[in-house]
Amino acid sequence: MFDNLSERLERSFKILKGEGKITEINVAETLKDVRKALLDADVNYKVAKNFTDTVKEKALGQNVLTAVKPSQLMVKIVHDELTQLMGGETSEINIDSKPAVILMSGLQGSGKTTFSGKLARMLKSKKNKRPLLVACDVYRPAAIEQLRVLAEQIDVPMYSEPDSKNPVVIAQNAIQEAKAKGYDLVIVDTAGRLAVDEEMMNEIAAIKQAINPNEILFVVDSMTGQDAVNTAKEFNERLDFNGVVLTKLDGDTRGGAALSIRSVVDKPIKFVGTGEKLDAIDQFHPSRMADRILG
Ligand code: GDP
Repeated sequence: MFDNLSERLERSFKILKGEGKITEINVAETLKDVRKALLDADVNYKVAKNFTDTVKEKALGQNVLTAVKPSQLMVKIVHDELTQLMGGETSEINIDSKPAVILMSGLQGSGKTTFSGKLARMLKSKKNKRPLLVACDVYRPAAIEQLRVLAEQIDVPMYSEPDSKNPVVIAQNAIQEAKAKGYDLVIVDTAGRLAVDEEMMNEIAAIKQAINPNEILFVVDSMTGQDAVNTAKEFNERLDFNGVVLTKLDGDTRGGAALSIRSVVDKPIKFVGTGEKLDAIDQFHPSRMADRILG
C-alpha cells in the first residue's frame, strides 16, 4: 500500500540530499513534488495544500545549521505533520456504560457487517466483553443471514426480527434484550445503500435518535478515494458520528482517504480493516500510518 506515494516522497527528498541547508528554493521544489504525490494518492486538494503549506513553514523555521541532514529533517517534518493530520494519537471507543451501544453507519459494501463481527470478536477476546450483535437491515435478508453466520463463527449472540420492517423498533428491542440478559455491548449493524440517499439517512438518523448510542462509527472503504471523503462528510453532517473505520487497507489502496478524512470531517479514524477474516482488525495508529506512507 502507498508504494506510489512513498516512492514519490523518497524521490523528492533525494533532491535535497547533499544540500547543506533547507532553502526557500529547495523546499519549494520538494513540496511541489510532495503535493503532487498527495494529489495522486487521491488526497483532497485543500488538505494537500494545507499540508504542504504547514510543512514549508516548519521546514523554513528550523535552524538548519544545527540540524541533521536537510533530507532527514524534511522526512521528520513530513512524518510528524502526516501524523498530526491523521489525529496524532490513537483514539479509543467509548464503551464504558452497560450496555454500551455502538451504531454502525456507512454505504453498502463498505464493510459494516464484517466490521461488526470483527469488533465483537475483538472486544470479547481482548476486553472480556459480552457483545450482542444486532441486524437492522430490513431490506436484505441476506444481510441478516451474513451477520448470523459471523456471529456463529465468533460465538456471540445475534438479535434479529426477520419479519419486522422497522429498524428503529428492532434496535430498541435489542437493547432491552441486552439489558435483560446482562450483555455489555450492543453492536447495531444497519442497512446501507450504494449511494447516499435521503431515505437511508432518515432511517439511520431515526435509529440514532431512538437509541442514543455511545458511539457511532462510520465505516468506509479506503479503496474509494475521494468518494470516501465526500461520503464521510455527508454522514457526518447528518449523524455527527464519533469515529471512522477505514476498511480494505489490505487492498491496492493509495491511502488518500486516511489522510483526508480526519481533516475534512474532524473526526478520528479509530479502526482499520485489513482483510476479510475476522481477526483482520487493528486500532488506527496515526504515526504507524505515517511510517507506512513514507515507506
Ligand atoms: P456491508 O455491506 O457494509 O455490511 O459490507 P460487508 O461487511 O458485507 O463487506 C463487503 C465486502 O467487503 C465483503 O466481501 C467483505 O468480505 C469485504 N471486506 C470487508 N472488510 C474488508 C477488509 O478490511 N479487507 C478486505 N479485503 N475485504 C473486506
